[in-house]
Amino acid sequence: MPIYEYVCLDCSTVFDALRPMAKADAPIVCEDCESEHTSRMLSVFFAHSEGRSVPANNSAGCACGGACSCASLN
Ligand SMILES: [Zn+2]
Repeated sequence: MPIYEYVCLDCSTVFDALRPMAKADAPIVCEDCESEHTSRMLSVFFAHSEGRSVPANNSAGCACGGACSCASLN
């Protein structure tokens, strides 16, 4: 499952969530202030994989470059 980044439009908190691709754009609640006024950020991975529908399956798909725990999740 790919990780998506979201930003809260109320408190500007940026957080990420592991979600099915089908729910990437579904509403998500801010984990800081619990506002539903959030927006999905486009990840580096998707910017580089334009035209492809293969989900991220290795650390190269993580915007952090593999420095975070994303790599171990795969
Ligand atoms: Zn918030």
